[in-house]
Amino acid sequence: MSHHVTLIPGDGIGPELTDAAMRVVDASGVKIHWEIAEAGSDVMGKYGTPLPEATLHSIRKNMVALKGPITTPIGIGFRSVNVAIRRELDLYCCLRPCKTYPGVKSRYKDIDLVIVRENTEDLYAGVEWPADTEESKKVIELSRNKIREHSAISIKPISRFCTERIVQFAFDYAIAHGRKKVTAVTKANIMKFTDGLFFEVAREVAKRYDGKVAYEERLIDNMCMQLVQKPELYDVIVLPNLYGDILSDLCAGLVGGLGVAPGANFGNGIAVFEAVHGSAPKYAGQNKANPTALILSAKLMLEHLGETVAAANIDKAVSSVMAEGKEVTYDLGGNAGTKEYADAIIKRMVIQ
Ligand code: NAD
Repeated sequence: MSHHVTLIPGDGIGPELTDAAMRVVDASGVKIHWEIAEAGSDVMGKYGTPLPEATLHSIRKNMVALKGPITTPIGIGFRSVNVAIRRELDLYCCLRPCKTYPGVKSRYKDIDLVIVRENTEDLYAGVEWPADTEESKKVIELSRNKIREHSAISIKPISRFCTERIVQFAFDYAIAHGRKKVTAVTKANIMKFTDGLFFEVAREVAKRYDGKVAYEERLIDNMCMQLVQKPELYDVIVLPNLYGDILSDLCAGLVGGLGVAPGANFGNGIAVFEAVHGSAPKYAGQNKANPTALILSAKLMLEHLGETVAAANIDKAVSSVMAEGKEVTYDLGGNAGTKEYADAIIKRMVIQ
């Protein structure tokens, strides 16, 4: 059986990394029909937009995409293509697995946790007003002097609907991947209504999984300390948008940084897989950047497609090449190029 997947090469280091990831997936024996779709500032001239409708159409049709990073130019006047893709397709969940691999420099070992971040609301809803506008003045008035005059305002909406679907996603992911515990994280002792609602709904969802997956709660400040002191205690962590953003980067740091951090965005039936890192323009076209994060994102994609044996095979090969440390990219202490490193992974897969 062949799977249809939209491939967005992106820009900067994107095209060389997606090429490496595609070659590794093809070598796994899984048959993929790659449908190449364009996005980014380079296609502005051709389509009048950095996110052509044809690209969105391709993702909606195939329901699965592998995406290279896309630069957000400063001062050109279009918003981030990455954010636009998430918004257009209502990709409400951002998933970031964080796992230590031997050979990757990190202060820790035995970390294997997964961050499930709500991706559509909270302080990212974009409801904000500069100081001294009609709107900010109205909100200040409504606050009955709790807000200082001339303040700028950002609104933090948390809904039952979005909380329920993200927490449910975390529990379903835990069940599907044999994980034992979900930890919900907020600052509900201070934000009693918004973060309070998140915990309230999370508890309701957790009850449905009673006896199958354990549930616990942490406050975000305590969680940061716990993750630095004993990260091995955590399994699946579910959070509202802003805390999720911050904690994802913290956890990427725990396991060796951006070069090895994969990610995925999920909506209703649609999934877009991409590395956590950006387009690193200074390394573009130099055959230098580390493709691990995108290859591990492609591995997540294979799991999503039900190709679990091929996914495990790729994970083993990546792990083995990194542990040996001879044919790895500069950031992992080697001097292999992007292509040569991908070749070493492919060779390892054939040997297994
Ligand atoms: P970045 O992740 O592109 O790069 C930061 C630094 O990390 C690089 O200079 C490099 O030293 C290192 N790095 C990142 N990826 C690497 C890799 N694969 N191999 C080796 N080293 C790597 O972050 P940035 O410089 O803040 O962003 C550059 C552009 O990417 C911006 O326009 C930003 O908006 C965009 N961006 C896109 C995405 C996305 O497409 N999802 C995500 C983040 C940033």
